[in-house]
Amino acid sequence: MKILVVNCGSSSFKYQLIDMDYEKVLCSGLVERIGEKTGSLTHKKDPGTDIERKINEESPFPDHTAGMTRVMALLTDPVLGAIKDLSEISGCGHRTVQGGEEFTQSTLITEDVLEVIHRLSPLAPLHNPPSIQGIRVIMKILPHCPSVAVFDTEFHASMPPKAFMYALPLEFYEKLRVRRYGFHGTSHAYVAAKAAEMLGRKEEEVNVITCHLGNGCSISAVKQGKCIDTSMGLTPLAGVIMGSRCGDIDPAILVYLARQTGMSIEKIDDTLNRRSGLKGICGLNDMRDIHAASGKGDEKARLALEMFCYSIKKYIGAYCAALGKTDALVFTAGIGENDSDVREMVCADMEALGIVLDPRANVTRSGQARVISDGTSAVRVMVIPTNEELAIAKSTVRVLMGLKA
Ligand code: AMP
Repeated sequence: MKILVVNCGSSSFKYQLIDMDYEKVLCSGLVERIGEKTGSLTHKKDPGTDIERKINEESPFPDHTAGMTRVMALLTDPVLGAIKDLSEISGCGHRTVQGGEEFTQSTLITEDVLEVIHRLSPLAPLHNPPSIQGIRVIMKILPHCPSVAVFDTEFHASMPPKAFMYALPLEFYEKLRVRRYGFHGTSHAYVAAKAAEMLGRKEEEVNVITCHLGNGCSISAVKQGKCIDTSMGLTPLAGVIMGSRCGDIDPAILVYLARQTGMSIEKIDDTLNRRSGLKGICGLNDMRDIHAASGKGDEKARLALEMFCYSIKKYIGAYCAALGKTDALVFTAGIGENDSDVREMVCADMEALGIVLDPRANVTRSGQARVISDGTSAVRVMVIPTNEELAIAKSTVRVLMGLKA
């Protein structure tokens, strides 16, 4: 069964065509700068293998339909494609950020479902509208192909009220659905399941803390296969410090800033999302640049790095308490998978919590899922490359199989 996975942004989209019989990526790609004078497309056949073929195209894509039409031509191209006919695509999985309380699992898309995703847009104004756009384009171009929405929030739907409620007047929850939703759900779900597999146990038998540390960062406490808490909140701004997002701050700061500086709500929103986090402290938001600057003696970069790791350490401590017993601690995504210094700083002096790294295993580079803790560590520390596309494709297959059953 071949599944197309689409992750659609406002001016770009990513795609993967996956053969689910072998869990093999047949083609992958990225279309960017849609609607601009010159757009760009990168397409790969057999990505990451010895026989990878890659093309880059620079041409205008006036809208998502134009970009997607070109991708369909490439997917069926005799040299660069992997299928003869579009009818070979059995289903399309769409990454959809905000499913609210309405969608606690991946869902076959109908007009009614689209209407609800649209209604949830105020909770994810940057994400839900482009997803809807992508879904509509696919429904038009591949009318035979069922589309499934896979929500970032669905894995966190299992959180109990004591974890998802904010201590605000209850009516804000009742009338406006102000609560913790959490994000990166497909990634947390994927690595938590993989961690259980690596421990040789069932998901229902293990407790895992998952640290998704990339451009956006979030941490989840997963008890017996179910998320019981996560660091992101109503929006992806909350939690640990991120590249340009502030993470948790005293909410009174917003009021103070507005009163002292007269900053508008829009300006404050922009500041917290785009000019804060690591970037706010040292002017850099890519962890590789921060290490380079810190190595050259840049004290602001060092401070940003220390703040970042400390904010993660505190969440791990909190989630060890929430879980009672922790079997595994997982690092994933760009920073989590690649940055041994961050992992070392986060895990330093955590022996009392049963977390002891093996320094050599930690610095050994590999693209494979691996254990990096010492044999004496009660908590198995792991690096597990995330694979959100495969997780979305698997959810899509589950929904399609459910339809057939
Ligand atoms: P992601 O959102 O998962 O694609 O992660 C992107 C982020 O990962 C980048 O902004 C970098 O900060 C970080 N990253 C990627 N590669 C490395 C690396 N080798 N060392 C440290 N950080 C990295």
